[in-house]
Order: sequence, then structure tokens, then C-alpha cells
Amino acid sequence: MNGEPVHSADCQVPRLPLMSMLAGENMTPKEIIDKINKLSKEVFEFDFQEYLLDSKRDFWGLTIDNINFKHNVLFGNPDSDIVNQVNRIFQQNREDARCEAGYRVDVGSYFRNTKIQADVFLINLDRLNDSIENLDALLLHELCHMVIDSKMIEKKLAHYVNSKDIYHGKRLYKKTDRYNERYTRHTEEFCIILSAASQRAGCIYEHYNGRWDVIDRAMKHGDISR
Ligand SMILES: [Zn+2]
Repeated sequence: MNGEPVHSADCQVPRLPLMSMLAGENMTPKEIIDKINKLSKEVFEFDFQEYLLDSKRDFWGLTIDNINFKHNVLFGNPDSDIVNQVNRIFQQNREDARCEAGYRVDVGSYFRNTKIQADVFLINLDRLNDSIENLDALLLHELCHMVIDSKMIEKKLAHYVNSKDIYHGKRLYKKTDRYNERYTRHTEEFCIILSAASQRAGCIYEHYNGRWDVIDRAMKHGDISR
């Protein structure tokens, strides 16, 4: 690198240097939350903590341990009954062990007889040691599910997508595993929003080489959809 920032034709914003925080062995729960806050603000232009306050929901993080088929608490104070139920499902359906990450808006709505109000973020233990480029792309992927499922994309982000985002999003959609769409939730809408977010991240962060670099990293793994 000669220090000169590279701009693609679509970039409207100056590129930022590598985030000082490094992913890897020392990635703490707080750093994960900080990253989610940061990516929400810089790539999607909304305040994640404000979103949680407005929706009156807690935020819980769970790890995916694909060796012991178990979720453990990463952050927040998850309801132990819910964690036990989710772990029972995990034990019964070990297919989930292949999941790399997930985001569930309003998890209480999936369980009967509960007043729990929380969003849940899941991440495979292996991914906590991944490179910063891959980890950020994975978090962007999950934030795309979040902005769709929370209806934020309709309420606050209507302006977010332009015609190029749609073009590349449709290209991505054709490449996805559409047979399992019900499970993956990688709909055409999801692909278009990921395309828009990837273009922005590709412009903002020096460690990416444009839209498709981010998309490829964000779609490298499957994810949970349960
Ligand atoms: Zn996904």
C-alpha cells in the first residue's frame, strides 16, 4: 500500500483505516457489541443501541459450539429457560452445528407463554478467531437479516438501495442456494440489501477490495435461521 486511498467510482465517502481492534483470540464480548454498533452506524447509518431502546428489547449473544452441540452465553443475560430450550433443539437437530452465525429479532415470539423481549445474536466459536475482514462481513450479513426482520428497512432505510445495488443483488440471488431459501432466508430482498451494505463497506474500509469482496466473505458460510 502506498498510503493513497483507493476509491471506486461509486464511493462517496473517504475510506477509513483498519479498525484498531483486531479480531482473533482476544475478541471479547464487548468488542463484538462495539463492532455491531460501529457497523450499524457507519454502514447502515442507524444507531443500534437506539434501535434496541425503541423496540424495548434486550440483546443477547450466544456462541455456537459445534463440537459439543451447545450454545453458551456470550453477552447479555439470556433467560435460562430459553437457552435450555434452544440447546435441546440444537441437540436434536445437529445440522445447526454447520451454522456460522445468526440473528433473531424478538426471540420471544418463537416461544409460547413467554414475555421475553430480546434480539439474539449467535456466532460460531471458530468465527471469533477469524480475520477482521471475514468477521466484519459476517456481522454485516447478520445485520442485513436484522434490518429486514425488524422492518427497519421499510421504516428508516427506504433510501438505502440504488439501482446498482439492485443489479448486483439480483446477480447474487441467482448464485445462492435458492432450494433452501426458507431455511436460509437469503431472499432476493436480502441479497439486494447485502449488495448495498457491501458496496458501502467496500468504500468505507480500506481492508476491502470493493463490493464483491465483501459479498463473497459475507456469503462464505451458511447461517442459522431457526
Ligand atoms: Zn443469512
